[in-house]
Amino acid sequence: MTRAIAVANQKGGVGKTTSSINFACGWARGLGPGRVLLVDIDPQANATAVLLGLESAAGPRHSESLTIREVLREEADPADVIQNVDLQATDAYAETTVDVLPSHLELATIETELSVAFRGEYRLKKAMDGVAREYDVIIVDCPPSLGILTLNALVFCQEVVIPVDPGVFPLIGLNLLRGTIEQVREANPRLHISGVMPTMSMNTVISRETVEQLGDHFGDLLLPEIPRRVAIEESHVNGIDVFGSAPGSDGAQAYARVIEELRNRG
Ligand code: ADP
Ligand code: MG
Repeated sequence: MTRAIAVANQKGGVGKTTSSINFACGWARGLGPGRVLLVDIDPQANATAVLLGLESAAGPRHSESLTIREVLREEADPADVIQNVDLQATDAYAETTVDVLPSHLELATIETELSVAFRGEYRLKKAMDGVAREYDVIIVDCPPSLGILTLNALVFCQEVVIPVDPGVFPLIGLNLLRGTIEQVREANPRLHISGVMPTMSMNTVISRETVEQLGDHFGDLLLPEIPRRVAIEESHVNGIDVFGSAPGSDGAQAYARVIEELRNRG
């Protein structure tokens, strides 16, 4: 059975994209079994920019440059859009690849069209029908909103991982996200939260207190914390995951712990 995991939180800058990249690449590097696909459904196309380059994410469009925008418009088959990205070997990991369904800045131009389309929130699920079973895990990097694109991710996936930055009032807005997940469950009853993950945690009173509050709220759903580390941020600039750029760092170890936990929860 394919596990499809949406990484969602309508708040921006909480680590959705960073976590999506590190989950997908870490899993593909062997921290989890099987084939992995990263779906970028964010018009910011940050995950695409990191793994496929800025030109793919924000450069001029060519007729042959297909993205998730064309998939959601039912103009292209995901199999023709998915790209295979090389992950270089490090001391700790052998060379491997990860598949990416890329986004582009212009995805923003179809949000209204999708919102008013009949069953516009089912487009991703419908499109992925044929190709999803080729993967063991599909990670979907959501945009910072609860709009039609995040809905497409939630209708398609069975699981949601919610990254939260414990430094910036993380609890505000989480009820809204939970409410949205509850609503989507009417159409997709298998959908559930499989983890709430503190990202960018720091050794400060406020950070520790909010992680405690998250534990009170979410109990067993609380995932191991990801510390705020330059090594994690820098991996983006290097166009790679933290396992590729700083495999021995405690940031990489923290992501490895979360992946292991997610595997156990599968
Ligand atoms: P989102 O996708 O939720 O908007 P991002 O993953 O893009 O958030 O992260 C926002 C910013 O924070 C990025 O510049 C990213 O490099 C940085 N960042 C994410 N996680 C960490 C971390 N654990 N430590 C330091 N910086 C981080
Ligand atoms: Mg993002």
